[in-house]
Amino acid sequence: MLNLQSSFEHFVWEATKSLRPPRLYRRELMVMESENEVEQTPAHRHRCTSVPEDPFDIETQQEKEFSKHDHVRVIKSIHNPCSLARSNHITDPQHAAEVRDLIMNELSFSSVEKRLTRDFQKDDLTSQRIMHAFELLDKHFYGSSILSTIKKKGIEIAEPKIYAFVQEKLQPSMKTVCYSKIGQFLPSKLELHLNLNRFGDSAQSRVTNGIIVRNKLDSLLITLSHELVHFILYVWCRNKQGHGETFKKLNHSIHGADKDAFGYYDLNSDH
Ligand SMILES: [Zn+2]
Repeated sequence: MLNLQSSFEHFVWEATKSLRPPRLYRRELMVMESENEVEQTPAHRHRCTSVPEDPFDIETQQEKEFSKHDHVRVIKSIHNPCSLARSNHITDPQHAAEVRDLIMNELSFSSVEKRLTRDFQKDDLTSQRIMHAFELLDKHFYGSSILSTIKKKGIEIAEPKIYAFVQEKLQPSMKTVCYSKIGQFLPSKLELHLNLNRFGDSAQSRVTNGIIVRNKLDSLLITLSHELVHFILYVWCRNKQGHGETFKKLNHSIHGADKDAFGYYDLNSDH
């Protein structure tokens, strides 16, 4: 007998709290960067320039820099990812965006059956491509430690289902469906469901989880990150499911999401 649970994003019509003032950079470092302009990844370029104006803040900033660029080591060093919600680890939102840039590049140059571009069309969304994007998020944010461990625990990760949601009143972008057998502590199967109604043109201009998306693929990746946190909760934090403090802390500290926002709203929408 199966017990079906689901979790999903809700509409949260609230102003984003992720808008931050622009960083201040030292003039000489900006000059140095332009003089040494070579082939650099966005992440590398960011490392070269993000030094604060205030010298008294340098030590704190250096700690922050170390933390945000070393997120995979920190995450992999922790036995139970649920405990990250109680740690001081923070992945800077700008760094999280740069990690998503790397993933978007990797997706763009993947083999045809796994390829997704920044301006994908609904017809491009296949189970294989969605799972590939999900695996790349696991790879770049968690050092590929999450999905493989879930499988080792005997939990099936099913092929994602892609369809237009017709029964859900709130029309979430995606949801994770958890199957569990009566009497078993861990789930037997986890399954992503993607709502095609939410990945048309409206996904180009959206605030999701408090992050202003840069393109459709960014929107998809932020939503998949959200669901990856639900996977963690279903497996490691069984009594913390939903969008409570543990969810919000994990999504904030690992994926750079807003501390409080976990839903989405479209910026170019009539409703
Ligand atoms: Zn959710």
